[in-house]
Amino acid sequence: MYSIRTYVKVSSLEEAYELNQKKMNTILGGGLWLRLGKKNIQTAIDLSGLGLDQITEDETAFFISAMVSLRQLEIHPGIDTYTGGAVKESLRHIVGVQMRNCATVGGSIYGRFGFSDPLCCLLGLDCEVELYQAGRIPLAEFVKMKKDNDILVQVILKKTDRKAVYLSQRNSATDFPVVSCALSKGAAGNYAVIGARPCMPVIVEDREGLLERGEEGWKTFAEKVQQEVAFADNTRASGAYRRHVAGVLVRRGAKALWGGAEECR
Ligand SMILES: Cc1cc2nc3c(=O)[nH]c(=O)nc-3n(C[C@H](O)[C@H](O)[C@H](O)COP(=O)(O)OP(=O)(O)OC[C@H]3O[C@@H](n4cnc5c(N)ncnc54)[C@H](O)[C@@H]3O)c2cc1C
Repeated sequence: MYSIRTYVKVSSLEEAYELNQKKMNTILGGGLWLRLGKKNIQTAIDLSGLGLDQITEDETAFFISAMVSLRQLEIHPGIDTYTGGAVKESLRHIVGVQMRNCATVGGSIYGRFGFSDPLCCLLGLDCEVELYQAGRIPLAEFVKMKKDNDILVQVILKKTDRKAVYLSQRNSATDFPVVSCALSKGAAGNYAVIGARPCMPVIVEDREGLLERGEEGWKTFAEKVQQEVAFADNTRASGAYRRHVAGVLVRRGAKALWGGAEECR
């Protein structure tokens, strides 16, 4: 449980950014992850008055603002169609609808949690984040950056040729994933994203074109993922188990994306 001394519902991003420069001050998303910690917050910075709870689109991209809930993202028809159900699949296992109505995109992506289903999935799509101070940055770069006091304003899901499928394995429904996987296909290259290792998601590129070569190629690429990616133990699973399951998910995902299999989960 966290404690808050002062609460400010800001009227601009500039005000939020200035307040957030003090170490003891904290931006509030849905507050669900913060609630699990023991932080003493001097000033809680609430972004909910800034109209950042909308998903908009133009011909180039979807613009997903920071205070959009995971549930809004999950049931957005345009994003569901555009991503072939991948985004919905990455969200539907997270706890329950009530929880997904409260958890925000900003908290989920800014938090850069190793277990994050949406982070792993969005890395398989053509995404950027917009930070108040640093501006627009590819999501793949953002996940490698050290946490600082910037503010995530929105996630930009670009409308390109990129297609992805998302798969995860859980010990029981609604638990955290034991391993997660997005397979991604596009003119700029094919790759897999492996998350919940249990640390940050990593990208494994298919430089040899294995994923275009059918069953044998999918198997070889899955073995490459198993060899190249580091997996570790935690209370949910051993690294060895994660490595095994990652190979299975990669092959299933490849079958869905390159083989046209309807069911990949
Ligand atoms: C019990 C439980 C189970 C969960 N299970 C899963 C799961 O299976 N899979 C999964 O993917 N996720 C899971 N999550 C994580 C959840 O989906 C959210 O990612 C998480 O709660 C963070 O979202 P939030 O809105 O609650 O963020 P908060 O708790 O409000 O914030 C998280 C962090 O991000 C910062 N922050 C928030 N918004 C911004 C912003 N716009 N700019 C800069 N910094 C910001 C906060 O200061 C804080 O440091 C679980 C969470 C809980 C509590």
